Amino acid sequence: MKKFSIKTLGCRVNQYDTQYVREQLKRAGWEENQEGEGSNLCVINTCTITEKSDTKAKYFLRQARRENPDAKIVLTGCFTDKMRGLEGVDAYVSNMEKEKFLVKAGLVSEEEAFELLGSNFHIAQFEGRTRAFVKVQDGCDAFCSFCIVPFTRGRSHSRTVEQLVQEVRALVFNGHQEIVLTGVHLGSYGLKKEDEHSLADVIETISGIPGLKRLRLSSLEPMGLTPELIKRLSELENLCPHFHLPLQSGNNRVLEVMRRNYEVERFFEHTALIKKHFNQPSISTDIIVGFPTETEEEFQGTLDVAQEVQFSKTHIFPYSHRSGTLASRLPAIDPKEMNDRVNRLTELTDQLAYEHKLPFLDQQTDVLVEEKDEEGFLQGYNKNYLKVLFKGEEHLKNQVVSVSLKEAVSTHFKGECEHALL
Ligand code: SF4
Repeated sequence: MKKFSIKTLGCRVNQYDTQYVREQLKRAGWEENQEGEGSNLCVINTCTITEKSDTKAKYFLRQARRENPDAKIVLTGCFTDKMRGLEGVDAYVSNMEKEKFLVKAGLVSEEEAFELLGSNFHIAQFEGRTRAFVKVQDGCDAFCSFCIVPFTRGRSHSRTVEQLVQEVRALVFNGHQEIVLTGVHLGSYGLKKEDEHSLADVIETISGIPGLKRLRLSSLEPMGLTPELIKRLSELENLCPHFHLPLQSGNNRVLEVMRRNYEVERFFEHTALIKKHFNQPSISTDIIVGFPTETEEEFQGTLDVAQEVQFSKTHIFPYSHRSGTLASRLPAIDPKEMNDRVNRLTELTDQLAYEHKLPFLDQQTDVLVEEKDEEGFLQGYNKNYLKVLFKGEEHLKNQVVSVSLKEAVSTHFKGECEHALL
């Protein structure tokens, strides 16, 4: 049996792409090899969001070549174009070619691929994960000044509702209780003139698929959010009341230099609307600290917005220089100053994450159990994407159980579940 191994770097969209490639290979008779050695084909699905991810991709390439000297090495993902011509690589498959991976990697002919996959190939399971990611949109037209993604994933394009419904049906049929809709710029779904459905349409349709317990939205760029969308989402029973809205900065001048195309006031309007239409929603975010030219006063603006919105979780990214982006031409701020700002924002947002949990204490919450940790705690997330740990038996994995929330820290709850030990 021909064996393949696949390494994935990067975001949920890239993890989805890996599953898509994995299922093509299996359909073509390949077997996945979990071991490092003994593969006939090694696929590296790369990311290039930071210099660090480039370094990791090169490390995986050397490792694959060392452990599988006779294997065919195929590079794909966001670092592909920059890596062309690299020694030790047998084939390159760009992001836009992943749908035709078998052909572009030189494994089968076009005719054979059509025989194997048909015209509407989609994933049917998400290996290694309880919650399944479904890519509804790819590419981006926003060109934020710090971001390399539009150069590696092309222009925004949306998958059809028919494709998505078939895919989600298959995932639910194969036991996935929660579907996470993801995209490079989810909010730009359905905005092209050739698109027949809006983001609200596609979410409503998917939400109605029988057996789907939970529907979650991945990152939603603020410039893609509308009052109408928020209102329509609030009417969907199985939609998780958790919104990840990347703010990036709490200052309008910095947002302008970032080319984010919204102002802080609009961000407040959206978060206020979410709090109006959803019962106890959770709003998390991404913030870039130390963006070139950001002043202390402007950073204070970010601290104020975080305090005002009361984020349930904040992913903090110290600005990282990315050659090829507009921002890379701007003067960097003093690294010591950047670290100090990271520490102050971390301190504040840890406190906010803790405070966000307090109103939920002593409430019952439904947790989708994902794994058991070394200390014997079952781990999972509730609909608000808040992590919960509780004692229980392994057989509860991939089940939704009701847990009483007893204790809160900034990173998670500790709880008790009556039936967990049965
Ligand atoms: S919206 Fe901005 S940050 Fe997000 S992928 Fe597009 S360019 Fe990058």
